Amino acid sequence: MIHFEPSILLLPVTVRCGDGDTFKARHVIFTGSLGVLKARPSFFDPPLSTKKRQAIEKAGFGSTCKIFLQFERPFWEELEPPTDGFQTLWLNRQTESAVVEDSNVPWYRSALGLDAIRTHKNTLVLWLAGPRAAEVDGLSDEQIKQDVVELLRKFAVSSSIPKPVRVMRERWSSNPYIRGTYSYHSMESTISGLLIEDLAEPVWIFEDSKSGSVPALLFAGETTHPIDFLTIHGAIQSGWREAVGLKELAVHCEQHSGCLHSRCRAKTPVQHSMKRATSAG
Ligand SMILES: Cc1cc2nc3c(=O)[nH]c(=O)nc-3n(C[C@H](O)[C@H](O)[C@H](O)COP(=O)(O)OP(=O)(O)OC[C@H]3O[C@@H](n4cnc5c(N)ncnc54)[C@H](O)[C@@H]3O)c2cc1C
Repeated sequence: MIHFEPSILLLPVTVRCGDGDTFKARHVIFTGSLGVLKARPSFFDPPLSTKKRQAIEKAGFGSTCKIFLQFERPFWEELEPPTDGFQTLWLNRQTESAVVEDSNVPWYRSALGLDAIRTHKNTLVLWLAGPRAAEVDGLSDEQIKQDVVELLRKFAVSSSIPKPVRVMRERWSSNPYIRGTYSYHSMESTISGLLIEDLAEPVWIFEDSKSGSVPALLFAGETTHPIDFLTIHGAIQSGWREAVGLKELAVHCEQHSGCLHSRCRAKTPVQHSMKRATSAG
């Protein structure tokens, strides 16, 4: 939990950990996923501003699932003709989105395909995206093995598809520290006019009449990158953005004794980074 107190000199933010440890800081950069932000509004005390909470609620955070299936032998190489994967193209495309969300339809209807992995000869990787990906987290390995055989029999047009011997996967959607996979621009956030900039906006705390307000709680992570959201490099750059921005702010204020942080708003991490990202794009 992250607690911040207005008008507290020097260390306004307290981070309370599950094991009882607490850390006090002048600035904290929060890098948890958008899934965590959505699921745990009570993580922050006092709550985030209404605008910020709406930006979090309306932004999209999707589910993807990658399931590695190990077989006793690479049966796909024995098919006629041999193949290095199966792409699943279903026929009723008009009704596709309605169909895949119907829980009576097997989850594998959302599978994008299965590909052989060159470095692991006996293994196929199955990609799944969309609302049904989260549901697969709750299925047992045994169920997945059976369902995959059913799927492969349809697409390999063969009844002699062997059952996988091992299923390996990460349960991103049910992991309480991730709760999904990565962000996307949702229709809701576009209509509401709430932007990634709103997700990245820090919480400002009034420090004192000399210093004005300081950005006490800052936000980084892929979801706060205006261009490269959903990627690893976007996540890394957003962390640099906030860290470098804080350093620049500290240097600036040191050089301008008596400077009011709140009046240096244009010098803050987020505004800097947005300018950089826009001009680079
Ligand atoms: C299957 C899959 C494939 C992908 N492939 C690619 C790819 O090919 N290329 C690419 O660029 N990107 C890819 N991505 C996306 C990329 O992995 C993410 O965009 C990136 O990892 C996001 O980084 P992040 O630091 O913003 O968030 P995260 O990686 O989610 O890190 C957040 C961290 O915060 C921690 N945390 C959350 N809550 C708490 C808490 N309460 N207390 C303590 N710690 C907490 C979490 O444990 C986690 O370590 C893929 C993602 C998935 C799921």
